[in-house]
Amino acid sequence: MDHVLAQLLHERVFASLAKLESPETARLIAAWRTLLTQHAPTDSGACKACGPRWRKHMCSVWRVATTYFIRHDRPCTSP
Ligand SMILES: [Zn+2]
Repeated sequence: MDHVLAQLLHERVFASLAKLESPETARLIAAWRTLLTQHAPTDSGACKACGPRWRKHMCSVWRVATTYFIRHDRPCTSP
């Protein structure tokens, strides 16, 4: 995936998580941040956890995060 696009997605997802953070959601948000950091793209565009097979597309973790935290700014029950 394009580095600029990946960086933009990263910033938007983490900004969305910051907006959702509250005392009640702190553990959930921390878990998402940890998961997303573990699945961050490498310099070659691969996923750190999933490997090079995801080079041309976001890995499943980032696809879910993008669907829930960027495409749907309102609460939703399905992608
Ligand atoms: Zn991954």
